[in-house]
Amino acid sequence: MSVWTSSRVNAGSNEDWQQRIVVLLDDMDGWSEALSPLVAKLRLGERFSRDDGMILYTHPNLNEVGRLAHVVRTARFGDKAFFNSNVHVNQTNVCILACKFCAFRRSKKAKDAYALDIAAYLEDLEQYSEYVDEVHSVGGLHPDWGVEHYEALFRATRSKFPHITIKALTAVEIKHLSQLSNLTYTETLTKLKDAGLGSLPGGGAEILDDDVRAIICNGKESSQEYLDIHRSAHGVGLSTNCTMLFGTIETLEQRLNHMISLRELADETHGFQCFVPYPYLPDHSRLPEAQLATGSEILRTIAVSRLMLDSIPHLKAYRMNIGDELAELALQFGADDIDGTVQKESIMHLAGSTTPLDHDRFQLARLIKDAGCVPIQRNTTYERFETYVPPEPKRVRRLNVVQE
Ligand code: SF4
Repeated sequence: MSVWTSSRVNAGSNEDWQQRIVVLLDDMDGWSEALSPLVAKLRLGERFSRDDGMILYTHPNLNEVGRLAHVVRTARFGDKAFFNSNVHVNQTNVCILACKFCAFRRSKKAKDAYALDIAAYLEDLEQYSEYVDEVHSVGGLHPDWGVEHYEALFRATRSKFPHITIKALTAVEIKHLSQLSNLTYTETLTKLKDAGLGSLPGGGAEILDDDVRAIICNGKESSQEYLDIHRSAHGVGLSTNCTMLFGTIETLEQRLNHMISLRELADETHGFQCFVPYPYLPDHSRLPEAQLATGSEILRTIAVSRLMLDSIPHLKAYRMNIGDELAELALQFGADDIDGTVQKESIMHLAGSTTPLDHDRFQLARLIKDAGCVPIQRNTTYERFETYVPPEPKRVRRLNVVQE
């Protein structure tokens, strides 16, 4: 089992990945007339434009687009695929906003509204603390919780579980705390970092287009505010992820503009480590006009993201959202990370299962191996890596579809 480290900016990527693209392309041929100019651009290390992105989105051969994205993914990471051992604890579903796509939020007076106080949060986390090194906490905009509440929460968490990194609070939550506590974004983030915050998830980006936002998440931070908050986080030394919610009402051009805004900020700060595109899921929510993304569209969006976002190292197939089967395929379409052990573990244990949480880590590693990749366990900020070799199952009921 090998262990290695990397800088936050490099995040485990091969430093010579652009030269490796050329070497990989030297061994490939058969590109279509439509994609050949893009292959030539890749060889020269040139960045794809919005028009190039549109070619990738509308090219009739999805496999060819995926093949090109896989070249870039392989140049950066070889056959490694990353995961971590984490748990989600959502601190409250009480929210002063009512984004149209959101099935999670509740008003303060709703019967099923909840807000975990610090003791309850720690108790929740304790169930998983032996098996995880990251807690991912996002929630609603609670009207009474300012920055002081989160400082106390993070201090208590780090004090009780020093081995667990806190990845918490989306951009709109940072905006909300800044407003409640009358602080700038930088002041808010500095206080939270000093209290133990380790990094920010990328949630809440939705589509960085204010016309779309006015319809799907009116009242949330603007596109510029999302970028400003992440810029401030990078400025105080916090790495962040970034996301894209697609399949609501946006156009392909708006998706590409979104990617370009993120990569331009990444050029400036080098603070984004991972991009997480995920489709809108319609269950129980309130956006009947949503287009909804098909499986092919999800894979294509992952591939296009890999090709457009050359200044963000990692690309996550968010299996909690797209499911294990599509996540496995996505590892051949440009994705290199399939998130953590969290969802299955949470569901199983909230349902009362006593199965060791480690069991899910085995399943995750098997899934990665079935996709032809090598499972690598990483820490939150992609600085420490360990090759993970899952034990063989005691009874094999499955066919070996790939060479072990
Ligand atoms: S801010 Fe977050 S929790 Fe609140 S309604 Fe919007 S998506 Fe839901």
